[in-house]
Amino acid sequence: MSVVDRQEWDVVVVGAGGAGLRAAIEARERGARTAVICKSLFGKAHTVMAEGGIAAAMGNANPGDNWQVHFRDTMRGGKFLNQWRMAELHAQEAPQRVWELETWGALFDRTKDGRISQRNFGGHEYPRLAHVGDRTGLELIRTLQQKIVSLQQEDFRETGDYESRLKVFQECTVTRVLKEGRQVSGVFGYERESGRFFVLEAPSVVIATGGIGKSFKVTSNSWEYTGDGHALALLAGAPLLNMEFVQFHPTGMVWPPSVKGILVTESVRGDGGVLRNSDGRRFMFDYVPDVFKDKYAVTEEEADGWYDDPDHNRRPPELLPRDEVARAINAEVKEGRGSPHGGVFLDVSTRMPAEVIQRRLPSMYHQFKELADVDITAEPMEVGPTCHYVMGGIAVDSDTAAARGVPGLFAAGEVAGGMHGSNRLGGNSLSDLLVFGRRAGWHAAEYAAGRASDARPRVDGAQVDAAAAEALRPFSAEAEAPEPSDGPPENPYTLHQELQQTMNDLVGIIRREPEMKQALEKLAELRVRARRAGVEGHRQFNPGWHLALDLRNMLLVSECVARAALERTESRGGHTREDHPSMDRRWRPANLLCSLADPSGGAAATDPERGQIALERTATEPVRPDLLALFEKDELAKYLAEEELSE
Ligand code: FAD
Repeated sequence: MSVVDRQEWDVVVVGAGGAGLRAAIEARERGARTAVICKSLFGKAHTVMAEGGIAAAMGNANPGDNWQVHFRDTMRGGKFLNQWRMAELHAQEAPQRVWELETWGALFDRTKDGRISQRNFGGHEYPRLAHVGDRTGLELIRTLQQKIVSLQQEDFRETGDYESRLKVFQECTVTRVLKEGRQVSGVFGYERESGRFFVLEAPSVVIATGGIGKSFKVTSNSWEYTGDGHALALLAGAPLLNMEFVQFHPTGMVWPPSVKGILVTESVRGDGGVLRNSDGRRFMFDYVPDVFKDKYAVTEEEADGWYDDPDHNRRPPELLPRDEVARAINAEVKEGRGSPHGGVFLDVSTRMPAEVIQRRLPSMYHQFKELADVDITAEPMEVGPTCHYVMGGIAVDSDTAAARGVPGLFAAGEVAGGMHGSNRLGGNSLSDLLVFGRRAGWHAAEYAAGRASDARPRVDGAQVDAAAAEALRPFSAEAEAPEPSDGPPENPYTLHQELQQTMNDLVGIIRREPEMKQALEKLAELRVRARRAGVEGHRQFNPGWHLALDLRNMLLVSECVARAALERTESRGGHTREDHPSMDRRWRPANLLCSLADPSGGAAATDPERGQIALERTATEPVRPDLLALFEKDELAKYLAEEELSE
């Protein structure tokens, strides 16, 4: 056995993005000795890429805004499938979390009278996104990192050791959550640079690993998003909730091919950018769905008037929730009205003076100039949908962030399910990270404090050996092929490409039953081949080996997405079925839970018919009456099932 390092902590946080860092700060401030692990460099989490802003009903730009309006927008955006208590806590606590960031050193853009400036975003009734130009995530991570350093300095003054109570392990990948019985006992992982294994023992583990976008070919996500946390939870026995809901952001770059999928922030539309097809038509007016008809402008004049006089004009349809805009762009391209490279045109050049564009959208200006040689102050951008965010995730308790069914396991951020229902509103992720990161850290610390050191779950040596053997398997793939006819080891990069193509083409933005069935067959084939994914060389920084291990996770989450998408025979939010094009109120009270079909890792692991994932339909919790009272009855009738309405 080659475990080289073994340490004990109270709380282990897997992931150092916004959710993980906020959880770690909270756990440490509540007295827990806390370790944070991240597979990239510290500070290079996905959160750093967030551009547009953080949604919080501070009412700075419009005094009409408050948590109830934010709650309403979030539920509408999620088409009422949100875990309503999470949406309530999120709307109530987001402003405090933004203020807290400022007390820790963040500096948001200001209004003329010195308040935090807030910008418009799709689906938000009022300007609500606090921002730092279009580099908000960078400021958020910088501030949380700074807070961690200040806590470490405090610890140094008291203990003589900066890392006595809060330590960051960077470039380390966790591959297994360890358990004693049902309870969490720690994590197993490897150092990416040296390839050495480590075990961190802890009664509380917070998963904050972000999303799954690298299972799709065209994505705004970076290499880290391989669904690790989703898979870690599944393998530990915690179910995933509503994995069919994957958000395709309407505006990713479409050209040149090397940068296809890179995000074009929604702030471009929030600040006045418009979408046009190849005929020059502002086509979004043709795609306002019935549920939103009375809230969006019907003429260009009214839409443009809204930016200066929102009280007497309705919102431009370019600011519909993301799922609606992505579908509309897809339809225009399919109808032959797309741009030369298969997208549509997004134009700010005719809407704002060049210096305003450069000031408000500096990253976008540079991104297009450097990557596509397009000057967005003088010509339109070409954009199209890109896989961006997963609404589905680990099923958690709304108040405590505790994962269902595994005591000691917590989850926060993009990896957790429920908060955003079937579709996330822009800006609601950064606030989600802070609100539920804090809650996860708080309850993880409390849970650990409730376990006296001599009564803590112990790490089982057999589990550690099994985790090490699993991690080493790619080095002996050839020797492991059961039959010579199985052929040589599989190349992990080839498998990854085939997986991405499958998910993109067959379980992408528009879904059809026969294609999803085909995807499940292909996933079964890939799963069998992935068991023979082989690598050469040694364990010191070996990206092929890392990918071979990540494949297990991407295959698991992809199967969850495909199975749940096949099961849900309606279109809602980020899940669009061509064969069931309407939202069906009868599906509103239904959640889909994915768990391992064969937790022992037996026959089902390679059985293409059964696959690895079992699907269960469970009832959503009825929305509390005082929250329902925030909506008009007519509006509720569009979403809620008959029996829910009569109750
Ligand atoms: P991340 O920030 O991705 O952090 C995940 C962490 O987990 C990383 O540290 C990673 O190294 C670590 N990790 C993963 N797997 C493992 C493992 N196996 N072992 C150890 N560590 C692991 N949202 C908004 O609200 N507003 C915006 O303006 C906005 N803009 C965006 C722009 C872009 C380009 C993108 C891609 C997303 C944007 N989002 C935005 C969404 C938002 O940024 C993400 O949803 C959010 O940052 C996720 O945060 P997180 O803490 O959950 O995960």
